Amino acid sequence: MTTIFDQNLQESCRKALAVFDHLDVAVYVSDPNTYEILYVNQTVERHFGKVVGEKCHQAFHGLDMPCSFCTNDIILKRRPGKPHVWEFFNRLNRCWYRCIDKAINWIDGRTVRYEMAVDITDLKEAEAALQESEERYRMILEEIEDGYYEVDLKGRFTLVNDALCNALGYSRGELIGLDYRSYTDAENAEKIFRTFNEVYLTGKPVKSFGWEIFPKNGKPIAVEASVSLVLKQDGRVAGFRGIVRDISVRKHAEEILRRHSFQDGLTGLANRRRFDEDLKREMRRARRDGSSLSLLLSDIDFFKRFNDLHGHLEGDDCLKQVASALARAVRRPGDLVARYGGEEFASILPETDIQGAVMVAEQQQRNVAALNILHGKSEAAETVTVSTGIVSLVPSSETTPAQLIAAADRALYRAKRAGRNRFKVWAAPNDPCKRK
Ligand code: GH3
Ligand code: MG
Ligand code: MG
Repeated sequence: MTTIFDQNLQESCRKALAVFDHLDVAVYVSDPNTYEILYVNQTVERHFGKVVGEKCHQAFHGLDMPCSFCTNDIILKRRPGKPHVWEFFNRLNRCWYRCIDKAINWIDGRTVRYEMAVDITDLKEAEAALQESEERYRMILEEIEDGYYEVDLKGRFTLVNDALCNALGYSRGELIGLDYRSYTDAENAEKIFRTFNEVYLTGKPVKSFGWEIFPKNGKPIAVEASVSLVLKQDGRVAGFRGIVRDISVRKHAEEILRRHSFQDGLTGLANRRRFDEDLKREMRRARRDGSSLSLLLSDIDFFKRFNDLHGHLEGDDCLKQVASALARAVRRPGDLVARYGGEEFASILPETDIQGAVMVAEQQQRNVAALNILHGKSEAAETVTVSTGIVSLVPSSETTPAQLIAAADRALYRAKRAGRNRFKVWAAPNDPCKRK
């Protein structure tokens, strides 16, 4: 066996490199010209078996791994005088190693190549697990229907999923680095800034805040977003992340529901709920302003007989026509005509005194007459007619909506008693509801 090491140098090598055994670092020293392995520490034997005296490519041949000494690829990558670092997988013990090799001048001035290998299997497994979890995380992000974002501290996108790209109408490339002010207006941008700032200052996530985004081409979309902090390893804030949900469809549905909940299904007029709310509000306003408020209650005359004679469907059709005839008689935006009950209608006329209310009642009766719906069983007229009770007053702090309705109802009763197809006024100098 030829060796450039004599017995003394072998010994000094052993002493100098013994510390690596304690660190579980495999060290072998070889002749850079003959590739003969001159020295190995105990760790090498533990990991790779006995290899001293063999040529490197023979020693590691059985391990089926790219050895620094026998792989062209690695030899070519070497830079003279620079350490070379690489990793390999030993299929025999199924471990990963990170290696470094370098030609050095040994103590006696001769050049040898030394190589160190560290078992990095745990690290590799942790890396693989991390990569796997990142892939899983990415897959979930791409599969969810909601948008996912991450932004830096200046509010520029650093990560977005497909759903968000689609909602905003930008490609991923266009979105990354885009400032939040680019896809919303000044008012919404202010809201976003305030919310993100609050999350930054308190560290507490915001589960949901509503705003509007403006896609590249298209109408604004109502969205609901969550925000929480993205932290760096050292605990400093790197940015924000959250989910963006398109709620425009829900908003639209809610709006339709809201409208329906205040609308009468048959006639399309405001319903009793809307009437109650409006009356309360208008009474408060009239009381505050000291203005007159008028309420008209109208009831179709002999409508039971009409139904009996013509049938319920005809009755429904008649109700619809009367409803629109009554609604056509009011002109001001604050006026409201509602279906109060079966064949009864109520008109709220804010800032309207008794003269104005009478004019509206007359117009309503003219409109109903003009419908010219043949009744056939009415004692009031040939055609369908209505009777109306009117109350007009400046509400006091004691006047309640129920009192106002009762007053209009009493006037309506008097109109019925007087022969129908007419109106009667609950006339009072001040507040008639005080009088019992
Ligand atoms: P009056 O002149 O005293 O008001 O007599 P009337 O028959 O109109 O009054 P009454 O309260 O006795 O009857 C009201 C009728 O209105 C009873 C019902 O058949 C009819 N009605 C109520 N709601 C509806 C509806 O939604 N559709 C139809 N077709 N008829 C309705
Ligand atoms: Mg009635
Ligand atoms: Mg009636």
